[in-house]
Amino acid sequence: MESKNKMDAIISLCKRRGFVFQGSEIYGGLAGVYDFGPRGVELLNNIKQSWWKANVYNKENYFGLDSGMFKHSRTWEASGHVGGFSDPLAECRKCNTRIRVDKELGSIGITADEKMSEQKINDLFNQNRDKIKCSTCGEKNFSQVKSFNLLVKSNLGDFTSDGREPVYLPGEACQGIYLNYKNIVNSMSPKIPFGISQIGKAFRNEISPRNFLFRTREFEQADTQYFIKPNENKKAYEAIKKDRFNWYLSLGIQENKLRLKQHDNLVFYAKDAWDIEYEFPSGFDEVEGIHDRTDYDLTQHQKFSGVDLNYVDQETGQKYVPWILETSMGLGRVFLAVLCDAYHEDEMDGETRVVLKLKPELAPILCAVSPLLKNKPELVAKAREIYSSLKKEFGRVMWDDNSNIGKRYRRQDEIGTPFCITIDFETLEGDTKDTVTVRMRDDGLQKRISISELISFLKM
Ligand code: ATP
Repeated sequence: MESKNKMDAIISLCKRRGFVFQGSEIYGGLAGVYDFGPRGVELLNNIKQSWWKANVYNKENYFGLDSGMFKHSRTWEASGHVGGFSDPLAECRKCNTRIRVDKELGSIGITADEKMSEQKINDLFNQNRDKIKCSTCGEKNFSQVKSFNLLVKSNLGDFTSDGREPVYLPGEACQGIYLNYKNIVNSMSPKIPFGISQIGKAFRNEISPRNFLFRTREFEQADTQYFIKPNENKKAYEAIKKDRFNWYLSLGIQENKLRLKQHDNLVFYAKDAWDIEYEFPSGFDEVEGIHDRTDYDLTQHQKFSGVDLNYVDQETGQKYVPWILETSMGLGRVFLAVLCDAYHEDEMDGETRVVLKLKPELAPILCAVSPLLKNKPELVAKAREIYSSLKKEFGRVMWDDNSNIGKRYRRQDEIGTPFCITIDFETLEGDTKDTVTVRMRDDGLQKRISISELISFLKM
């Protein structure tokens, strides 16, 4: 399927089947904000749970955190966001459409990024202006490039409206980890190396939010900061890159759709930086950053707060500011990657169908339960009994007695339900008494399974 069509088909499925809605739609929509509907929130939660398992439960010496969104305004000065968290912006002189210049240059094959100086990016833009058209009016008449700060301000606690020391919304979720590093060291006494993981919201005044969930103004990040001894970064960094890449495979994403890509430019304090990229219908793009950040973050917070953030090594008595290896993943982007990977159109029983081949652990609904006929009370009663016991066990179970069985299957295929359970007359009597039909989503094959084995079958 052609790339634009595939993304359009996914966006349309998301709306039609209750995965994702445009934010504030009844008011005409709010650019760069999306809401997750009943199916979407389940898929999102299942992705989060998988990440939490991999980054807290299945690891030793990793700690979970949920820090407040608002932080002292100096946090963002220390982190460098107030001074330097900006993207290069140019404006169409005819229709005022704003473009993010590094991304526009990237789309014509010229490497540029937000870390370049304003002068350098202006030079590159000037050399290539004739190749960049305004997507709204088609003109090639843009202003000079300016840096535009992405932090979103709030007026929390500002009763005079003088705007001094504004409290920002988080530009990235991980700052809460640095602010709580000392609390966690004091309360948990972790032995170095140790990790702190958290999922949190981030807000950025993105110049041109686009590509559905890929670039939004409000999004969620899942971050781990791994605290290590100074100079012990190399081996651990390689292990983390591998571990994170494997996590995407564990979601069922095809390996040939994933790659690790090293950054061309590094910020001055970083030792190394790689992205994990997924091949979206529009091409490979970043879903997660993996950064070898030295002691920059804690040293900055130590300097700005005046609080000693040294770690005292109980074994050697040494005192030092730990170095940090960071992984930072955008949940919206992973959600989109999972959907793009699972989306298929194929033929079944002589009909074209849309099917989401999601791993059962990720599917919004694990199984749908149906009586073969909804006007036969004995079938309905048995089906209700099975539905209740599965619902109690798994939660993600749906009662579905609408229309005929073929239509039910198509509807469940579209939302990625791996198993459809049908209670028919054979369930009630004869050799097959107390068995049901389980229909598999991917190949359409059907199995007869005894009711007493259903729970363990679905747990496989
Ligand atoms: P980009 O270069 O695409 O703007 P970034 O390198 O600035 O991204 P980071 O600051 O490293 O991104 O953030 C970590 C992760 O957060 C990214 O890998 C991405 O998955 C996610 N992310 C960043 N910006 C956005 C956004 N505007 N919308 C959705 N997810 C985002």
